[in-house]
Amino acid sequence: MIKVDSKLRRKVEWLWRRAEGALMPPAVLENEAKHLVADEAAEALRAIDVEHPSLSIAARLEALEASKNNYASRGDYIARFGCVGVRRFQSRGDVAIYLMPVETFPHHINNVYLLIEPGHTTLFDVGSGLESSRRDLALGFAVVRSMFGENARYETVDLAIVSHAHIDHFGGVNDLKVKTTARLAVHELDARVIAGFEERVVIACKDVSVFLRRAGVANEERARMLDLYMASRDWFRSVEVDRTLRDGDLVGGGHRVIHTPGHCPGQICLLVGDVLLTSDHVLSRTTPHQFPQAITAFGGLENYFHSLAKIRKLDLVKVALAGHEEPMFDLRKRVDEIAAFHRERLMKVRDLCNVPRTVAEVAAELFGHQEGYGTILAIEEAGAHVEYLHTLGKLRIANLSEVAKSDDPVVQYVKP
Ligand SMILES: [Zn+2]
Ligand SMILES: [Zn+2]
Repeated sequence: MIKVDSKLRRKVEWLWRRAEGALMPPAVLENEAKHLVADEAAEALRAIDVEHPSLSIAARLEALEASKNNYASRGDYIARFGCVGVRRFQSRGDVAIYLMPVETFPHHINNVYLLIEPGHTTLFDVGSGLESSRRDLALGFAVVRSMFGENARYETVDLAIVSHAHIDHFGGVNDLKVKTTARLAVHELDARVIAGFEERVVIACKDVSVFLRRAGVANEERARMLDLYMASRDWFRSVEVDRTLRDGDLVGGGHRVIHTPGHCPGQICLLVGDVLLTSDHVLSRTTPHQFPQAITAFGGLENYFHSLAKIRKLDLVKVALAGHEEPMFDLRKRVDEIAAFHRERLMKVRDLCNVPRTVAEVAAELFGHQEGYGTILAIEEAGAHVEYLHTLGKLRIANLSEVAKSDDPVVQYVKP
């Protein structure tokens, strides 16, 4: 059998979204769904099916075809697969939770969640604010109205919760402030990023610069990385945060905020009945990105492990819905897999430091050659692991006298 890689998987998901445009009412197709070319997408899926029968494309295409003109089978299809990527979940306590996939950056999909319950219409994350993100949010709401029969509009959202201050999750708050009267809520440790973005970008960049220097990244490469780091500075403007959240706070119709620092200082999960919205704390396929505390407090692996243990203790989570990728029906298993992955990576990093190495050298050994933003992600991930080992005394500094003499040292680590 030919292995299905994640790139193909993403492509197939993208094609399904387009093929399912065939289910949409003409009015929606003409407005919010112009970009869905259903027939071409179905053809492309058929071609992929020939080589990848394990994806069960043919059976689903048949079900889709049968649903076009038949109300009952359309209901079945949508209950099973959703429509144009939008899927409905229902929590204990009858909150309807809609997953809306949104292309926040080219080929980068975020799951934005819409919670509908008596007296509250809540968005959990708001997209990036880029044109593709606006387009997909508008489509998501159109699908929720036309295919799921909800009376929900972006303009009438009354609360928007930002799960953590990464731009693909919060960039859409500029639109939100213009088009809605929604209150904006975010964890108190991430509020400054949204409310004081201009300052935050400058200060974070200084701290990243020091980190990269100590990590042994050459000047030219460092300048290039910092440019990438600063890229969002030009198009995001700070907005006021209306409510800052803390661990244990209740929002919307009484849903509990769980603070899970690690991937981001103000990362939260939200417990909605027996459904846990995990944002980027736990993802179904990827292990969420880690960065060292040296860049920002409340990051780092110790916080992350602690936050994994915290949600592992929750009882009766029926499904966990993340900020990217697929729903998870066995949260504890996934938490254990991610923790084990990092424990293994820590051992690997320690072994790599049998000879003195900089963080940049560890990153190169772990991830090989990277391009673009991947270079920053690789060095931050390596930095988080080296920092954790060093804090625990499992690595020590190999070039201490050199470090002592220099104002701007490159640090080498070695196994004691
Ligand atoms: Zn994130
Ligand atoms: Zn994310």
